[in-house]
Amino acid sequence: MSDSVDPSDATDRTDDAFDDEYPVQVFPEAEEMDLRPGTDDCYKCSSCDVSCPVAEVDDTFPGPKFQGPEQWRLTRKEDVEVDASIKQCSNCMRCDSACPSGVPLSQMHNTARAKYVEEQGLSLTYLRDRILANYGTLARLGSRVPRLTNLVMGLGITKLVNERVLGITSEREFPAFATETFREWWDERGGDDASKARAQEARRLRRLGQGERRSRERTRAERGDEDRKRVAYFHGDYANYNTPEVAKALVRVYEHFGYEVAVPDQRCSGTPMFANGMMDDARRAARFNVETFRELIEEGYDVVCSCTSCSMALRKEYPELFDFEGTDAVAAHTYDAVEYLRIHEDLPSALADSAVSLGEFAYHAPCHARNQGLANQSREVFADLDGVDVTDVGDSCSGISGTYGWKGENYDVSMAIGEEMFEHMEAVESSVGMTECPTCAMQMEHGTGYEIRHPLEVLEAAVVE
Ligand code: SF4
Ligand code: SF4
Repeated sequence: MSDSVDPSDATDRTDDAFDDEYPVQVFPEAEEMDLRPGTDDCYKCSSCDVSCPVAEVDDTFPGPKFQGPEQWRLTRKEDVEVDASIKQCSNCMRCDSACPSGVPLSQMHNTARAKYVEEQGLSLTYLRDRILANYGTLARLGSRVPRLTNLVMGLGITKLVNERVLGITSEREFPAFATETFREWWDERGGDDASKARAQEARRLRRLGQGERRSRERTRAERGDEDRKRVAYFHGDYANYNTPEVAKALVRVYEHFGYEVAVPDQRCSGTPMFANGMMDDARRAARFNVETFRELIEEGYDVVCSCTSCSMALRKEYPELFDFEGTDAVAAHTYDAVEYLRIHEDLPSALADSAVSLGEFAYHAPCHARNQGLANQSREVFADLDGVDVTDVGDSCSGISGTYGWKGENYDVSMAIGEEMFEHMEAVESSVGMTECPTCAMQMEHGTGYEIRHPLEVLEAAVVE
């Protein structure tokens, strides 16, 4: 008998051979390589590098392309650690918007930064970054005795110690704690139940204002929709402890439009934690927030934020980095507070009757607002409001990026990035600024001495009697 193979056996032999040889594991650790598809989408156009405000003023920073896809590939090798320059990235996320290929740059940066911090272990820098990342813990303690804390934090000796020991710049004024937090005010006012009663009354008055004829025309469905106007407010730490006037403005504006506002327990959005590589802290905070807001969403609430970095975290960073049950639902139901009103209310009509006269504002759109497509929002909302002029001061980054500009090693870079914004602000005749981001507000005030307002405060002045 010849050695030729009986065709009827060939299939079996071939399958056996395939069993030995296939599938070919070109990338044996494929299961850990969840960022690979995004990395492979990079075609090295360098648009991200050109958009990076840190790379523009700091020659030592290799830029987002290196921090993202290139470093990701390099660190696949076991003996290659994350480069220290990842900490020079301010997490402004401008590179995300600049990339024409959808490479998840900031997701890569956040992941690499967390790995870098883990690799470095304990140090004074780690301690400093952990304190800054957990601002809410510091604020909770400090706001128990706000006047004393404000006094101590403003002393020259405190600033000196912070700078010498922790590396926190002494150039900036520590933000003052309010003598009454937003949540204290909220509880004192009667909490969610009081908001429900106020919203119901506002809806009744609006119906009266719309007249009997209009009221008869309204369908049962329309009236039902109006009775379901409910939002859950994610206020974050800064509006609670430092700028409760912004949080109160949100509540009053929403109640004016007939919304019942709920203010559930919540943790920091995680933004300063991502930016400092404290991923375990961020995960704990995000899990708590997702569990809390998911339940409210199931009851028919949408989530609104007064800080664009908070809405950015809930909408974009949570789904990129975590997969708790409800993460996608929270992302899908979260909005910037003014954006939500633009979608659901007739703001131009509401503002048409306003007799407010507040003058000109030098407006800065935060990078995280730009990332959510909200760069022109404030200009558009107030465009037809007599008595208010909003002048956009350009599309540059403010430079502070949360805790980034508070670090001694970043202060000069932060101010160099902010220089363009300061110049444009100073070209505006007024000395009042406007922005949605609390740390951009800090930088605007620090660089120009202007008083800074939030768009919600202007809306409150315009529509709430
Ligand atoms: S997040 Fe901002 S600072 Fe960081 S690499 Fe991207 S553009 Fe540069
Ligand atoms: S912009 Fe996107 S595609 Fe271009 S170099 Fe950067 S990551 Fe790569």
